[in-house]
Amino acid sequence: MSHVFTPDPLPCVPVAGSSDDFPVRRIYCVGRNYAAHAREMGSDPTREPPFFFCKPGDAVVPVASGAIGDHPYPSETANYHHEIELVAAIGKAGSNISAADATAHVWGYAVGLDMTRRDLQTALKDKGRPWELGKSFDHSAPIGPLHPVSQIGHPATGRIWLTVNGQLKQQGDLADLIWSVPETIAHLSKYFELRPGDLIFTGTPEGVGPVLRGDIVAGGIDGIGELTIRIV
Ligand code: MN
Repeated sequence: MSHVFTPDPLPCVPVAGSSDDFPVRRIYCVGRNYAAHAREMGSDPTREPPFFFCKPGDAVVPVASGAIGDHPYPSETANYHHEIELVAAIGKAGSNISAADATAHVWGYAVGLDMTRRDLQTALKDKGRPWELGKSFDHSAPIGPLHPVSQIGHPATGRIWLTVNGQLKQQGDLADLIWSVPETIAHLSKYFELRPGDLIFTGTPEGVGPVLRGDIVAGGIDGIGELTIRIV
């Protein structure tokens, strides 16, 4: 038996300071996980249970540290938004993981962008339709190098920020997450068996907004590095 065509290579994220990479399985994303961003999206930032959506694993686009990654402006949108996020990478499988045990399942952390066709997402939301066209398109998950827990531990505080053409647009602190990474893993693993290679985009702080072709979008998280893309 053989494949009827040559499969695409696995999407992978390089590991910082190493020649190894992290093969990606699934991408889970948390919606509205910072109170100020929930308010700017028209929601009440109470501690309702977190909600999740997915991107395909091959939406990930690694960007090397210090590099500027070309990022294609997608089709069928006139309001394309940046969302800077902490990404947790799962290294150990589990279902029904308790928050107390959750950090043992995290292999490392990275800085990522949950790029969003906001006009489509808003229209789909208004009609009660799924968000894929707004969230889960090709190239929609640029990501910086992955930093192993063995080197940086489990960051629970630290500034998270994003600039467009050098102008500060998003700023928050990991301490402001409504649902912490361990709590997020506890909720998510009730619904899915988490497997090595899964990435969790943990939500974005306030200040999301549009980007245009030619813009330089840079973001970072204290202790986890920076990520820069150019919209082309
Ligand atoms: Mn997001």
